[in-house]
Amino acid sequence: MYKRVLLKLSGEQLAGQFDGGIDPNVAGWIANEVKKATATDTQVVIMVGGGNFVRGAQIAGHGIRRVTADHMGMLGTIINALALTDIFEAHGLATRCLTNIFAEQVAEPFVHRLANKHLEKGRVVIVAGGIGRPYLTTDTAAVSLALELDCEVVLKATKVDGVYDKDPTQYDDAVKIEKLSYQQAVQDEDIKIMDKAAMGLAMEHKMPIVIFDSMQEGSLGRATAGELVGTIIS
Ligand code: UDP
Repeated sequence: MYKRVLLKLSGEQLAGQFDGGIDPNVAGWIANEVKKATATDTQVVIMVGGGNFVRGAQIAGHGIRRVTADHMGMLGTIINALALTDIFEAHGLATRCLTNIFAEQVAEPFVHRLANKHLEKGRVVIVAGGIGRPYLTTDTAAVSLALELDCEVVLKATKVDGVYDKDPTQYDDAVKIEKLSYQQAVQDEDIKIMDKAAMGLAMEHKMPIVIFDSMQEGSLGRATAGELVGTIIS
């Protein structure tokens, strides 16, 4: 059983059946899964992505500078975090939204001690604005935050239940890899789970990463209990 975990949710996941924006049903489902996981006293920190609104690297150009594009991306993560916070609370989970982008009217600023205090009181902490700087993704921000808050593992929720030797949506004979080394995850060009900066940071500080399908009932609870779900990179 892990004492404290970091859950990384991507914007794509929050969009659910839609092409963009937020699917409240999916967010509600995730709230229930987190509720079950926290019932066993595991503390949960969430880093939320923003790809359902803006991905900086994709939108930059045609006059939009990369830095501005990344600012837009980080603002998108705040929209997701605000929605998630309300939906989590509506599902009976005490939750606080802390932001790394100054947005005092809408959320508390991210302060290390404050985040720890909320977690120790059993509240879910949702962090918005990534790490607050451009040229990064929320995957890298997730690993950095997990290190900062002494999380034991990064649980990266995806639409696939782990890492496969080739794309399982395209190849029937794709084989799931249950355990992977950081080295393999970084070097194998066919394995695209997290960006290299995120993986490099995890490797340097030996932060384990679990890739799992959050839409499989109970899988988050099993992952927080320390069971092998999806793929573990360590
Ligand atoms: N972003 C950033 N700094 C950060 C985190 C995110 O500049 O620390 C920007 C970046 O443009 C990124 C966007 O916010 O593309 C949304 O995050 P991400 O692409 O990681 O979202 P996800 O793919 O997880 O939905």
